[in-house]
Parts: sequence; C-alpha cells; structure tokens
Amino acid sequence: MESFTLPILIVGAGASGLMAAYDLTAAYDLTAARGSSSANKEVIVLEAGPEPGGRIRTLKGAPFLHPVEAGAEFIHGNMPITLGLLHEAGIEYRAVKGNMCEFRNGKWVRGPQSSADQSSADQSSADQSSAGQSSRVWDELMQKMEQLEQDMPLASFLESLTEEKFREAGRSMRRFAEGFDLADPKTVSTRYLYREWQQEDEDQYRIVGGYARLIDHLIEVCKRRGCRIHTSAQVTDLHWQQGRVQIRTADGREFTGSKAIITVSPAILQLTAPNASAAPNASAAPNASAAPTIPTAPAAIRFSPSLDDHIRAAGKLGFGTVTKIFLQFTEAFWNGTDDQLGFIFSDKVVPTWWTQCPDPYPLLTGWVPGAVMKECKPMTTEEWISHSLSSLASMFGMDVTALRGRLTAATVLDWTAEPFIRGGYSFDTLESVAAKYVLNQPIENTLYFGGEALYEGPAPGTVEAALANGRSVAAKILLDWSLHS
Ligand SMILES: Cc1cc2nc3c(=O)[nH]c(=O)nc-3n(C[C@H](O)[C@H](O)[C@H](O)COP(=O)(O)OP(=O)(O)OC[C@H]3O[C@@H](n4cnc5c(N)ncnc54)[C@H](O)[C@@H]3O)c2cc1C
Repeated sequence: MESFTLPILIVGAGASGLMAAYDLTAAYDLTAARGSSSANKEVIVLEAGPEPGGRIRTLKGAPFLHPVEAGAEFIHGNMPITLGLLHEAGIEYRAVKGNMCEFRNGKWVRGPQSSADQSSADQSSADQSSAGQSSRVWDELMQKMEQLEQDMPLASFLESLTEEKFREAGRSMRRFAEGFDLADPKTVSTRYLYREWQQEDEDQYRIVGGYARLIDHLIEVCKRRGCRIHTSAQVTDLHWQQGRVQIRTADGREFTGSKAIITVSPAILQLTAPNASAAPNASAAPNASAAPTIPTAPAAIRFSPSLDDHIRAAGKLGFGTVTKIFLQFTEAFWNGTDDQLGFIFSDKVVPTWWTQCPDPYPLLTGWVPGAVMKECKPMTTEEWISHSLSSLASMFGMDVTALRGRLTAATVLDWTAEPFIRGGYSFDTLESVAAKYVLNQPIENTLYFGGEALYEGPAPGTVEAALANGRSVAAKILLDWSLHS
C-alpha cells in the first residue's frame, strides 16, 4: 500500500517535470492551508544535468552580448499554459517579425534581393507566376494528404504520386518535414504532418530575456511551496513496487517515494534495452518483469522490475535531432539588403538561418536538422563555423575573411550529443498513438511517464506540449490521491 507520507519523486527538471511539481505542490499547499492530515507530502525533483531546464537552455553572459537560446526559442502561437505562466510571472514576450528570403542555385529566388538578380520586369512576373504555381501544387498535395484512406509514412505517400507536377512540391514537403518537424520521412505519419501543417498560422513570440526565465519562475514557485530540486542527480536505478519507489543516483544518493514521474526524453528511455529473457512476475504490473532492464549506456535508467513494454513503446515514438549554430557579429551585415530580414532558407548545408528581428541584436542562428547531419561528414565546432561563414559570405556576396573579421562570438550545439537529452523533439510515427497509450497509463498508480513526447494535443514537439503533459500527469496523481485520502 502507498504510504501517504512518502514524497513524490520526479525524474527530470525540464518543462514537463517542473510543471508537474508546480501543480502537485500547489495542491498540497492548498490542502495544508485547509489543515488536512495527509498534506505533508513532499515533491522532490532529481535532475541529471548541472542546471534545470532540459531542452530549455538560455546562454547568458560572455562572449554573447544578449541571452541566446541554445534550445527552445519560439512560442508557436497562443499557447495557453506557456503564456499563462508568463503573465503570472510578469515576464514580457514579443512577436517575432521579419521577411523570409530564399537562396537557391546561386541566387536569391525569394525576398528583397531577388530583384537585384532579375534582369527585367518580365523575369519578375515569371517568377511570381511560378511561385503561385508551386503554392497551388502544394495545396493539391495537402488535399491528397487529407483524403488519404490509410495512414502511411511521408516517403511512401510521396512515392505514390507519379505525376511530374508533384515532384518539386514533394521535395519541398520532404525538406519541410525534416527541417521544421525534425521528422524522418521514412517513419513520420502523413496524417500527423497534415494536421500539423494545416493549423492556422499564428504569431510567434520570443521571451524577453530568454526561455530560462519561465524555468526560473517554475522553480521559484515550486521551492517556495517546499519542493526540493537536486541538480547533478542522475538517476541510475529505479526499484519499485506498488506504492513505493526507491531511486539511486550515479553519485550514490538514495531517495524513497510513494510514486515517481519519469520525464526523460524518449531517446534516454531507448538507452535501456528491454530485458528479453525476463520472466513475468505475477505480483508486479502485467507488463513488468522481475529482472531489471539492462542499461546499455551510462545515461540509461535501470528499472527493477523491468518495464519492457514501456521501453519498447518508447522506441516506437519518433524523436528528431538538430544542431544549432550561433554567430554573433559586430553589426547586422544583412541590414544592407533588408533591415527586416527574419528567416533565410537555402540549399546550402545549413538550410535555415534566422535573425533576432525585430530586435537589432546582430546574431544569426543556424538550424541543421538531423537529416542534413546524416548526409554530411562529421564536423568539429570550428569546421561548422568556417563552413557557415563561407556559405553566408557567398550568399551575401562578401569576402569570407572580412566576414570572419566581423565575428565576435560563435558556438555550435549538437543536441544529439547532449548526454541526458540526445535529440531535439518528437514527431508521430504510425505507431505513436499506440505507444503513447501504453506510456500514458499509470503503472500500478506508482510510476508515471511524462514529457513532451507523450503529449497528445495540437502543439506537438513544443514547450507547451511538455508543460501540458506535466500538468496531465500531476492531475492523474491528484485524482488518485483524492480517491485514497
Ligand atoms: C534545439 C531545440 C529547439 C527547440 N525549439 C523549440 C521552440 O522554438 N519552441 C518550442 O516550443 N519548443 C522547442 N523545442 C522543444 C522543447 O524544448 C521541448 O519540447 C521541451 O523543452 C521538452 O521538455 P521536457 O521536460 O519534456 O523534456 P526535457 O527538457 O528533455 O527534460 C527532461 C530532463 O530529464 C533530465 N534527465 C535525463 N536523464 C535523467 C536521469 N537519468 N536522471 C535525472 N534526470 C535526467 C534531462 O537532463 C532533462 O533536464 C526545441 C528543442 C530543441 C532541442
């Protein structure tokens, strides 16, 4: 039986784990204020990294002159939980602005510089009509996605289209799925992409001072309500039975709780190999087996009894990877051609760059999705920087040495190499619905999986998804708690 005096343990202090802690501590605060006897429940958050935040990481201080978002950067529309927390904390956010440009086959094909590349008004109207044509073909493709009788991976869907007119739009779709959704065309669900892409375009926002302020707010509130947050506390072993969880960290600390929420990314769960030889244990949950699961990498968690079905389900979720490149210059050299430049798309190795528009901060951020990384040879940080400078110099018709002379800070962050994250964000495969169903069921009202990848709403792969999922896990625990107290 659950001991109601034992704490709730949360593994991971990303947006999801902290949101769960925020809601749980709010409920305990409320019952304590009413003098309930079972209100002395604690919440303890265990975070492997040296700082909380997970995939929210705002770099502050030298060599960068302003906060730089190494992880999440945008609020993709009117996200109710995210904006609610910002309002509560009095944190300002600003709409992202800026023009979009496109550089292909050695020339600007869209955006303010295209007029310089064009020799005549005829050329300009030809380009406009070709742009209109591509947008019509894209719409046709979207219609075909909507009418799909049976879901299939995007790659199969595109292969099924034989008409010549779909070839170029199909390539753009593939690039968009790989770039924006970090999806693998061979496994991503076409219906999922359709739902994603047909949502209304809403304004996007950036948080003034950085996303880390949202994390700071959650931490401040949780701590004020008595929650303890341990950083550099990598959970290595989790032993559980109904109503009792014992956790051991890499540095030998031990924590005992009545329940645990595990919010690590699917890539971390996938490091634990399912224990194929484990014998079923009658006293444990139906899909748990007595022998521990076997960690195959130092960041893996050993569950005992093992949770083979859950680990296998985590392997069926899509999880994309990305590298971000940050280049800070003495001034915004791109202003010479467009002082409202927002996003640059190109056929170069770094396919997307963006500025801080409307903020004048002269920073360019490069976005290299996993699909591109797979195709190019591995590069060191210095090689990425050199490569980026050469391609920017060629796009803007500048001398590369002169451009390097204007560079004041640069860094590169490959999220696959982050030991406790190992990727960017999730996308739905054909098996995701079933996998999420498995992972979203509480295990003996004792273990709960959480995190962005288990979210089932309209904003997948976002901070909002992580917050919403943390909130829904906390609600399950509070429901159980109210039924048993
Ligand atoms: C480069 C990048 C850009 C993004 N851009 C955006 C964006 O613009 N807008 C947006 O809305 N979203 C964006 N996202 C997605 C968003 O950041 C995530 O969806 C969200 O932050 C995930 O939160 P989470 O709590 O589910 O997971 P995480 O943030 O991964 O938190 C899980 C935590 O668990 C910890 N952990 C792992 N293993 C252990 C262990 N064994 N013991 C203890 N702790 C452990 C990790 O260190 C981590 O802190 C981006 C993500 C990336 C990587």
